[in-house]
Parts: sequence; C-alpha cells; structure tokens
Amino acid sequence: MINIPKGTKDVLPQESYKWQYVESVARETAALFGVKEIRTPTFEHTELFNRGVGDTTDIVTKEMYTFKDKGDRSITLKPEGTAGAVRSFVENGMYNGVLPAKMYYIIPAFRYERPQAGRLREFHQFGVEIFGAKGAQTDAEAILIADSLLKKLGLNVKLFINSIGCPTCRTAYNKALKEFFAPHLDGLCYDCKTRYEKNPLRLLDCKEENCKKINATAPSMLDYLCDECKTHFDEVKACLDLAGVAYEIDTRIVRGLDYYTRTVFEFVSTSIGAQGTVCAGGRYDGLIEQLGGNPTPAVGFAAGLERLLIVMEQTGVEIPEPNKPTAYIAGMDGDCRKKAFEIANALRAAGIQAEIDHMERSVKAQFKYADKIGAKYVAVIGGNELSDGAMNVKNMATGESEKVAFENAAAYFQNK
Ligand code: ATP
Ligand code: MG
Repeated sequence: MINIPKGTKDVLPQESYKWQYVESVARETAALFGVKEIRTPTFEHTELFNRGVGDTTDIVTKEMYTFKDKGDRSITLKPEGTAGAVRSFVENGMYNGVLPAKMYYIIPAFRYERPQAGRLREFHQFGVEIFGAKGAQTDAEAILIADSLLKKLGLNVKLFINSIGCPTCRTAYNKALKEFFAPHLDGLCYDCKTRYEKNPLRLLDCKEENCKKINATAPSMLDYLCDECKTHFDEVKACLDLAGVAYEIDTRIVRGLDYYTRTVFEFVSTSIGAQGTVCAGGRYDGLIEQLGGNPTPAVGFAAGLERLLIVMEQTGVEIPEPNKPTAYIAGMDGDCRKKAFEIANALRAAGIQAEIDHMERSVKAQFKYADKIGAKYVAVIGGNELSDGAMNVKNMATGESEKVAFENAAAYFQNK
C-alpha cells in the first residue's frame, strides 16, 4: 500500500464541488475587475525564486522543493505565484502592451513546511497581480478584489494594513530596528539572529512566542516613512474609506517575502486560530527590475484556497451542491437494459443529466441506488414497457408515476 505524501491532500469526487465553487467565485470576481487569467509552469528555474522571493525568506532558505532534472538544471516547484507571473511579464515584453497588465491565477504551490491544519506542503492559491500602476488607487483596488471575493464567499474576516516604505525610508528603519534588537539578541530564536544580520525587517514576521513578545515594543515603520510613502499610505486609507472597506493598521505586518514596498495587507479570520491569514499581499515596486525587467510598479495578493474552505466550513457557510441527476433509467434485463442505455444517451444528447445501471443490479436495487444518488425521476423498462414502447416514470419526490413514450423521453425531461 502506497500512501499519500505527508502534507498533501486528495480532493475527493464528493467534495470537489466545494473547490469548484470557490474557484468559480474567484474567476467571476476577477472578471468584474477586468483581470484575466495567466497560466505559467508549475516549475521554474530555481534562480527565479532565489532572486524573486528573496534569499533571506523562510520560503527560500528552508521550504522549497528543489531538484536537479536529468539535464542537470536546478528546478523548483513554485512556492508562490508572483515570481512566475513577473518572469512571464518580462519575458513576453508585456510593458509594451496594455498597461496596467492585470492578471490572476489559481495554482498549486509547494512548500516544505511542518504540516498542520491550514498548512500543507502542496496547497492552492488564487492570486492577482497588477503591473504598471503606481498610484494608491491601485493598491486599494487590489485590496478591493480580495475583499469582494471574501464577501461573496460569505467570510467574516478582518483586514489589516501597514506600510513598509521604500528602500530610502527603510534604511533608516532598519537601523532603528537593529538598535532596538541589539540588547535582546540573546532572547531571539536562531533564525532571528540571522535575520538580524541580513534583513532586520524579517524579525517582525517571526512566529516564535518569545520573539513575538520582544517584537511587541519594536519601533514602528510608520514613524519612519518618507513624505512620499506617507502620502501614498494616507491615500490608500482614503480610498478604502471611500469604498466603505473597514481596516485596522497593524505595524507588525511585513510579509514573508523580500520584494514588498509600501502597502502590505492581510485578511485574517478570527475563527481559525494560528493559520488565520486567508489572504495576503501588497505592493512590490522593486521586483520586476530585480528580475531583469524595466522598472515597473506592481501590486498583488494571494489567497490560500484550503484556508478559505476551512473558514467557510467552520462558520457554516453553505456551498451550493451540484445538480442531482434528472433521470435514472432502470432496465430489467437483456433488451430492456439496451433500451435504457439508448434512452439515457438520447437524454444526455439533449443536455439532460441521466444515469443507468453498470453493476447488473435488479430493478429493486437500481431504485435504491437511484435514491442514493438523488435522481429526481426513475424510469423503469421491463418486458411490458418494451412492447408498449413507453416507460413507467416515477417522480421520486411525489411518488407519482406516469407513462412516457420512448420517443418523447427527451421532451418529457426537458426543464424538469
Ligand atoms: P504564513 O505566515 O501563514 O506562513 P505566508 O506569509 O507564508 O503565510 P504567503 O506567502 O503570503 O503566506 O501566501 C499567501 C497565502 O497562501 C497565505 O495567506 C495563506 O492563506 C496561504 N498559504 C501560505 N502557505 C500555506 C501553506 N503551507 N498551506 C496552506 N496555505 C498556505
Ligand atoms: Mg509561510
């Protein structure tokens, strides 16, 4: 017996409709904002993520699925969607096309993490990226796309926003952070000691209890914003106010990725403890240039589909179930079963959902099965029906039966 790999999950046939529902709402929401789908490979050159996610991040330092292919190239399964979208934007010269370039994706993402509820090694993201627009309205629009998705899904989540400034104001902030953390170095976790040297901003993102305690009194980036970054952040807030979207400022949000600038945000559910962040994103004006493109501002977010589904489940959001079969055609034996096969095919050709027996069951057992799968009507074809050229159709909800000529079957079931 070979088991499923740790940290992965099957989506079984009887539950896949929940995924399809979330995905279709995500696609509809994207369409409302004029955002089109991009599809990029599941694996990329490792270098893309080293440079694009940042080599001081948890993702790059310890979570990537990296291997050598048979041509001795270093390949990585994508741990997130932004780097691939940016690579494609640059490689396809999209800055010469229509700007802003607005795109979304629904992808599997791979991270070697310690599996927990809402934390998997293969998980799925709905992500949106907007390339080429630098104004605060665009940040607000990215947040609004996420907000309207979450509202359509019926989720009650809180929006937290922050600004982490630009390279100019962050230099001063990093210095202040280092001064603040210097006397606390002994109390920090092993990772944070490295972060202190390489990228002090990352210290604020640590999930260790002790580090979080120390972080609580760390200086706030908002006190170090340059005038332009401050104005930008004020405008984002004003746009959200205008849109009637409630938010709180949380100066601890820095995001796990290195390429963010200015606005960062998270939507957090209060109903699932530790893995409550269902959606996260922000502006990353430096990334496209860092990946070899012309300097291009960008903003985006990604929502974790597993976490959305967990929150929906826990808060009792009802997901519309798929349609049940309209007709089940039960054939008694031999020629009757052939007729059932023929009629079911005619019904499907007319767009009517129909099923027949594949298990050589008796008519009684077929009725039981039809009831189990929720068929709305069961038609029975026995010897008499075959010679009459009409089948006996039972309405499973009312129990009433009537005769329907074989040739009228499609017309009868249409719109039932
Ligand atoms: P966390 O702080 O929870 O580790 P992150 O900062 O690593 O999250 P992002 O890289 O911003 O997460 O990914 C965006 C979203 O993808 C997260 O908000 C979350 O909903 C989801 N996500 C991230 N990692 C996982 C995972 N291992 N399993 C399931 N969902 C995940
Ligand atoms: Mg993470």
